[in-house]
Amino acid sequence: MSTIKERDRQVIWHPYTAMKAWPEAIAIVKGEGVYLIDENDNWYIDAISSWWVNLHGHAHPYLAQRVSEQIALLEHCMFAGFTHEPAVRLAERLLEILPEGLKKVFYSDNGSTAVEVAIKMALQYWTNKGIKKNKLLALQNAYHGDTFGAMAVSGRSVFTEAFTDFLFEVDFIPFPDKQDSSYSLATLERLLQNGDVAAFIVEPLVQGSAGMQMYDADTLELYFSLCRKYGTLIIADEVMTGFGRTGPLFACDYIHTHPDIICLSKGLTGGAMPMGVTATTQDIFDAFYDDDKLKMLYHGHSYTANPTICAAALASLDLLLQDSCTENRKRIIKAHAAFAASISNHPAVADIRQMGTIIAIEIATETPSYHNSLRDVMYRFFLSKKIIMRPLGNIIYILPPYCISDEELDYIYRSITELLGSL
Ligand SMILES: *Cc1c(COP(=O)(O)O)cnc(C)c1O
Repeated sequence: MSTIKERDRQVIWHPYTAMKAWPEAIAIVKGEGVYLIDENDNWYIDAISSWWVNLHGHAHPYLAQRVSEQIALLEHCMFAGFTHEPAVRLAERLLEILPEGLKKVFYSDNGSTAVEVAIKMALQYWTNKGIKKNKLLALQNAYHGDTFGAMAVSGRSVFTEAFTDFLFEVDFIPFPDKQDSSYSLATLERLLQNGDVAAFIVEPLVQGSAGMQMYDADTLELYFSLCRKYGTLIIADEVMTGFGRTGPLFACDYIHTHPDIICLSKGLTGGAMPMGVTATTQDIFDAFYDDDKLKMLYHGHSYTANPTICAAALASLDLLLQDSCTENRKRIIKAHAAFAASISNHPAVADIRQMGTIIAIEIATETPSYHNSLRDVMYRFFLSKKIIMRPLGNIIYILPPYCISDEELDYIYRSITELLGSL
C-alpha cells in the first residue's frame, strides 16, 4: 500500500505550490487543539492557524457537535426565495458585534468572493444612484484574494504577474511610513479630490500576505475620515484581521469612523468550513431596493448561506464570545510582547512588530523576496521542530489559535531564538 503522500503526487495539484520544486506534502490524518497529526504520528504545532483560519483549535468537539446536529436536520437549501434559522441567527449575531452602522449581511463562499461582492456593491451603488464614480483605490502591496476582481485591487506582484493585462486599473496609495504617514494620506486625499472614486478598499492595521505589514490606528482613522469627507465608500477587508486577531473582535474597533462595507471569512467559522460575509449599511442596501430589476445585485453562489456552515460559524461565535477566549487573547498578546522585547536587539532581526495576537519577525537579509531561499531553510527548520510556519519571504510570524498554551508559545519562541542564533 502506498502512503497518502505518495498517492497525492499522482493526482493532486496544490495551491501556492511550485509542484516541481516542492513535491512532498505532509499527510495530516487528525487534528487536536493546536496540533495537526500526520500519518506517521508526528504532532505539529499549527503556529499560523492553518493559513489564518483556525480560532479555537482543530477538531473542536463543540463545533463538531453543532455541525453534525445541523447536517442531520437540514444540510443545505438554496438561498434565493428560501431562508433558514442558522443564516438569520448568524446575521443577527454578526450585526450585534460588527462595527456600528452595518445592517445587512450578504453571504458567499470565501474571502475572495466576499471581496468580489464588496467591489460589485460599491460600483453598482453609484451606478444605481446615477452618479459617475468608477475608480477604486487600494493600499500598496495589498492582498484581497485570488479571483479577478480581488486580484485587481491587490498589489501587482508575483501572485498576479501572469494576469496583469487582464486586471482592471486601480490606483494604489503608498504604504504609510512608520514615523510619518503624511505622504500616504496626502496621496489618498489628492486622488479622492478627483471626485470619481467609488471606494477605497483596505486591510485595516495589518496587511497579511504583504508580510504582516502593520500601521497604526490613527492612520487608519485618517484614511477613513478622508473617504467620508470626499464621499467615497470604505471597504474594510477584515478577512484576516477579523474575529480577534488584533486583540478586539475587529481591527476597525480601534477607531471611530466606521466602514461602509466589511469583508469577513477565515475565522468566521472558527476555521472549520469556508464562508464569506460582506456586511453593509442600510444606505447601500437601499440603493439596490427598487422596483427596477436592473438595480438589484446580480450575484450569488450555489452554496450561499449553507446552513451547516452557518452552524459552524454560530458555534465558533459561542466560543469566541466567552470570557475565557478574551483572556486567552490577552495572554497571547502579553507573551508576544515579552518575546518581542527579548529579541529586538538581535543582530539577525531587521524588524519585529506585533498587532494583538499576531507577531512578525523580519530576518535581516540581502534579498527580501517571497521566493527567498532563506524562506525554505526556515520553513524546513521549523518543520524539524514540529512547528508549522510558512514564512513570507524573510518574514516569520506567529498567528496562533487562541487555545495555544503558554508552554506551546514558549516552545515556538525558543525555536525562533535558536533559528536566529544559527543565521
Ligand atoms: C486570505 C485573504 C483573502 C482571501 O480569502 P480566501 O478565502 O483565501 O479567498 C482576502 N483578503 C485578505 C485580507 C486575506 O487575508
